[in-house]
Amino acid sequence: MNICYKCKLPYDSEIRIPKILPCGHGLCIICIEKLFKKGLLMCPKDNIIHQISLEDISTNYVVLEAIDIGNPFEIIKCTNGHEMNILVQTEKEKMKCSVCKKYSDSYYQCVPCLDQICIKCCEWINTTAPNSYRLRCSEGHYLRETLNAEVFYQSIRPHKKHNFFLCDGCLTKTNGRSLQCRQCKLDYCISCVEKYRNLDKNIELLFCSKKNYEGFFGMIIGKYELCNQRLVWRNQNTNFKCFSCGSFFNKSGSFICKECSIAYCISCANKLIP
Ligand SMILES: [Zn+2]
Ligand SMILES: [Zn+2]
Ligand SMILES: [Zn+2]
Ligand SMILES: [Zn+2]
Ligand SMILES: [Zn+2]
Ligand SMILES: [Zn+2]
Ligand SMILES: [Zn+2]
Ligand SMILES: [Zn+2]
Repeated sequence: MNICYKCKLPYDSEIRIPKILPCGHGLCIICIEKLFKKGLLMCPKDNIIHQISLEDISTNYVVLEAIDIGNPFEIIKCTNGHEMNILVQTEKEKMKCSVCKKYSDSYYQCVPCLDQICIKCCEWINTTAPNSYRLRCSEGHYLRETLNAEVFYQSIRPHKKHNFFLCDGCLTKTNGRSLQCRQCKLDYCISCVEKYRNLDKNIELLFCSKKNYEGFFGMIIGKYELCNQRLVWRNQNTNFKCFSCGSFFNKSGSFICKECSIAYCISCANKLIP
């Protein structure tokens, strides 16, 4: 997007110079000048008030350079969607990439997130699609849809051959598309994503299947009542043993029954839908 969010006019290198606020949002210099009130400026996107002078608002050089080249371009964004305008190249000191945790000598900086992201990870962010489901990792990062999850693992562990990736949702080795958190190295395979989508759609039909026996006698004669509480999805409920299949999961979220304090994996929860 090479247009200013506020005036919707295209940026250029002379009049509508692209600027970037400390919150990470971009505007043209003309809109910024108009938005100043008594030395304060409120970002029209998130209403954050910045106490800053005009000279201290940095120019978005990534946008500016792209205008100079005359190329249609996409602004490089961090995983939280901020525009990143600062490309740092260091010779002496290598910096650790916030996404892949590998050291690199050139990276983009996201000012609001205090993140530095290597060129490869920037490519990842800008070649993967944000996912439209509410799936997140346990750290709350939004997952992105990759076309080829194993390629990422190949790039961070080149000494091993990666023809597959391990799906954290069903613990099976697979290849191709996934929903991925690159920071936490979490992947959900497409089959898990489809199941999750089905579950999300039919969440009102999803009930806990735990049998509560009526005392010892009930146990002997097999008299029980089903718990039948609604299950809810929790991204952050990881490290669980699935009540139904008994497998251990350490990165995947789960469907939990608050009444029984038990968790179901995605596949087992999907089987509970009538
Ligand atoms: Zn503008
Ligand atoms: Zn903002
Ligand atoms: Zn990286
Ligand atoms: Zn950011
Ligand atoms: Zn899976
Ligand atoms: Zn994450
Ligand atoms: Zn299970
Ligand atoms: Zn229950």
